[in-house]
Amino acid sequence: MNRIILLNPGPVNVTERVRQALLQPDLCHREPECAQLIQSIRRKLLTAFGLDRTFLTALISGSGTAALEMAVSSCLGDGQSLLVVRNGVYGERIATMAAAHRMPTVTLDYEWGQPPVLDDIERALTAHPEIGVVALVHHETTTGLLNPVHEVGELAHRHGKKLLIDAISSLAGDALDFERSHVDYCVGTANKCLQGFPGVSFVLVRKEEMDALAQHPARSVYCDLYKNLKAQEQGETLFTPAVQVHYALDAALDELIEETVPARIERYATAARMLRNGFNDMGFEYLVDAAHRSNSLTALKLPDGIPYETLHDELKKQGYVIYAGQGGLKQSIFRIANMGDIRTEEFQRLLDVLKACLVKSPSLRG
Ligand SMILES: *Cc1c(COP(=O)(O)O)cnc(C)c1O
Repeated sequence: MNRIILLNPGPVNVTERVRQALLQPDLCHREPECAQLIQSIRRKLLTAFGLDRTFLTALISGSGTAALEMAVSSCLGDGQSLLVVRNGVYGERIATMAAAHRMPTVTLDYEWGQPPVLDDIERALTAHPEIGVVALVHHETTTGLLNPVHEVGELAHRHGKKLLIDAISSLAGDALDFERSHVDYCVGTANKCLQGFPGVSFVLVRKEEMDALAQHPARSVYCDLYKNLKAQEQGETLFTPAVQVHYALDAALDELIEETVPARIERYATAARMLRNGFNDMGFEYLVDAAHRSNSLTALKLPDGIPYETLHDELKKQGYVIYAGQGGLKQSIFRIANMGDIRTEEFQRLLDVLKACLVKSPSLRG
C-alpha cells in the first residue's frame, strides 16, 4: 500500500476502521446519541486500562495539551504548591502552565535525557511541606526517556502528596501500574498510542479526588476539571465536543480492548527492538541509555555531516516522516517513533531505506 508512514510521536497512522468511523451521522451535542457516545468512550477508556472501579475520566476537545492544562490547573488547593520534574520539553510545559495560572511551583531540573535523582525529590518534599501534588512526565517524548513513575509515586505517597502523570505519549505504549505507582491524575490523548485522531484528550482521575477537586479554586473556564467531570458524569458536556474525532476514538478503543493493552505494549516493544537492532547494525548512537528507553520512540544522534533536513527529505521521498530534535537537541538528534498502525514490513523497509540514505551520504558511518 502506498501511504506515508508517520514516525513522529503522534498524530499516528490509524487503521481503516478508525478512519471510516469519522463518517458517522451529523450529531447535535445536546442529543442523547452524543451523550451515549461520550459515555461509551469514558467507559471503554476505564475498561481498557482496568480502572472501572477506581477512576473517573473527563474528556476534553483539544490536543493532549488541553487535557494536561485541565489536570495541572485543577489539581492544587489554595496555599499548595506543585513539584515539577523538568527533564524535557514536556516537564517544562507543565511548569509553564502552572506559572500561567499563577500556581506556586517548586522545580527540579535535569539535563534532557537524564532521569531525575530520587533523593532530590525526597529533599524537596521535606523542605516544602506546602507541596500538594508531584507532577511528572511518564514518557519524555523530547528524548524517548521513561521517567521512574513508580519510584516517584512511592515517594509522593509516603509524603502524603498526590501524583499527576503526563502519560500522553505512553498510555498503551509502556506499562503504567496505577495502583502500585499511586497515580491520582493521569493525562492521555487520542492520537498517540491509542491510535485515534487528534482533537480529543482526557484526564483519568482517582475517584477519591472528587471531593478535594470540588474545593480547588477554578483557574480556567474551558479546562475546569471538576466542572467537566461533573457534567460528563451526568451525561452532559460543558461545551461542543469535536464529535467526529470522538466517533473515531470510540472505534480506536474497541480495537485497543480487542488487542488488549498488554498486547499493544508488547507489539510496540517488539517493533522498537527490531528497529534498534537495525540502528545498532548501522552504527547509530543513542541519546538515552537502553535501561531508560521507552517502547515507542528512539532518539538517535545525527551522523556527522548529515543535516537533519537532508535525512528528513530523503526519507520522506521514500514515504517515511521522521521527527526533529527540539530545543538544544535540534542540531544533534533525530527521532523515530513507532506508535500507531504500522506493519513489521514497513519498519523493515524503513531500515533498508535508512541504510541506503547513509550509503548515499559521503560521510556515512555504518
Ligand atoms: C504529545 C505530547 C503532549 C501534547 O502535545 P500536543 O501537541 O498537545 O498533542 C504532551 N506531553 C507529552 C509527553 C507528549 O508527548
